Amino acid sequence: MFGSYSVDEQTKPDKSLRLSLFFQTGSLYFYTCSVKSVDLEFLSTIDWEADIMSEIWDPKKAEKKLKSKSEMMVCDALMNQDIFSGVGNIIKNEVLFRIGVQPESLIGNLPAKKLRELIAEARNYSFDFLDWKREFVLKKKWLVHTKTICPKCCEKLVKKQTGLGKRRSFYCEKDQKLY
Ligand SMILES: [Zn+2]
Repeated sequence: MFGSYSVDEQTKPDKSLRLSLFFQTGSLYFYTCSVKSVDLEFLSTIDWEADIMSEIWDPKKAEKKLKSKSEMMVCDALMNQDIFSGVGNIIKNEVLFRIGVQPESLIGNLPAKKLRELIAEARNYSFDFLDWKREFVLKKKWLVHTKTICPKCCEKLVKKQTGLGKRRSFYCEKDQKLY
């Protein structure tokens, strides 16, 4: 969650450094992250199509996985790294506001159109997130995450730990429907 990396130059102190890689053409540094050594067999079990920003991201596959988890709350589903690898808590909150869905809604109760919207927006927002982060305007672009007032209806937002993951959700009871 707080991890970061840098290329060609170590930008953080040694105590934050977890892994550094040196190549003939440059170097790569990873900070405040968990580093795990895995074998080739494990690598072959990773579903690269679940990477939300990958060129081979497969929305149909995500839809299929979601349909098998009808009892799961949407807030947990979006944070499920086997389905939406790369989606974090900020993206979860902003995506659910964008599509007008209350975080505790159950996957199985979402109309087919909403489910596809959820999948599409998870990817869309991830690209916006990256652009805004690079432009240093990410926080300014948040509509509900860490906010207290709904930008649509000006009512007070609800702040609550939701789902099995018990992660912070910020949502509007008026503009986000509970399915
Ligand atoms: Zn509202």
